[in-house]
Amino acid sequence: MAKVNPKFSAEIKKYGADDFSACFNCGTCTATCSLSDEKTSFPREMVRYSALGLESEITSSLKPWQCYYCGECSTDCPRKANPGELMMSLRRWLTAKYDWTGLSGILYKSFAALLISMVLVAVGVIAVAFAKDFKLEEIIHFGHYFEMYAIAGVFALILLPNIIRMWYFAVIKPGKKIPFKVYVSSMADLFIHMFTQKRALGCDNNQTRWFAHFILVIGYLTLLFTTVFLDWFSSTSIFVVVLGYVVSAIVFVVTFFFVLSRVKRKTEATKHSRPSDWMFVAWLFLMGITAFAVRLFIDMDILDMNLWLYILHLIILAQWALIIVPFGKWTHFLYRSFAIYFEKLLEGGK
Ligand code: SF4
Ligand code: SF4
Repeated sequence: MAKVNPKFSAEIKKYGADDFSACFNCGTCTATCSLSDEKTSFPREMVRYSALGLESEITSSLKPWQCYYCGECSTDCPRKANPGELMMSLRRWLTAKYDWTGLSGILYKSFAALLISMVLVAVGVIAVAFAKDFKLEEIIHFGHYFEMYAIAGVFALILLPNIIRMWYFAVIKPGKKIPFKVYVSSMADLFIHMFTQKRALGCDNNQTRWFAHFILVIGYLTLLFTTVFLDWFSSTSIFVVVLGYVVSAIVFVVTFFFVLSRVKRKTEATKHSRPSDWMFVAWLFLMGITAFAVRLFIDMDILDMNLWLYILHLIILAQWALIIVPFGKWTHFLYRSFAIYFEKLLEGGK
């Protein structure tokens, strides 16, 4: 028998959804959604589950990850119940549910906690710079190793256990038996969707938004590779230097337009921005622009006189790597890709 959590409605409101109780179950949203079909029907079902407090059904569901927030269901809803924003809030809630540390939930629900954690990370970076006597070369050296260890540590200690928890909730707990060969044969879908997010193309009139996201993902991953593995800030290779400039410019230009669209609030998807949404686009923008400026100052031989710029870049990078990537909106990119993989497993299992 389904377990009901009478406090679920109140809980999900803390993650951003506040209109869904107006729903009268007409089904217009599901009929409108171009990603919903007979096999995977949403968002009406998720609105009902949320209103009824069916927490375990929501925890094991992959449907919130199949919504790409085009907002059409919210536009067409006769009760203004905002099902698109509920789907977004369920993704935030699931992120907190998967997270074994419990920090995602705290940071999503409390702006004060988010602010304090950002300040603590900034203080930590300044303390490291102080310990290194504010010597540029040593701080850059530290920054380079920090990036490598932060990526490995966050993946091994936070993201991997959380993906395992997601797998447990969605595949194991509901009692599905998946043959090993299905795990292997479905792998291609995981990587294709991770890099292309091509299912978003199924949303009506979403091609421009999909293309901007695609360019951003490629730019971001290449910037990561260039700074971490090709050591962009110390490299003398013209190819690496130019590549770094190009990809960092892609990151800050594309994210500038994302920030602008959130300021203008013209679409359903940008009307209801939470601090986690702002932080994600703003920090990507700041990372791209400060990385670009740091390398420019290195090439102009003036970074030594402007150490503050590198420290600022390192603070933004550390906040991104230690807060936004493991506990914030960055995880949606990862969970969405794994949701498609797990869905494929469930199709091939019994
Ligand atoms: S959310 Fe709106 S469109 Fe969807 S079932 Fe409820 S009232 Fe109908
Ligand atoms: S926001 Fe778009 S993709 Fe998401 S449920 Fe609504 S119509 Fe479907």
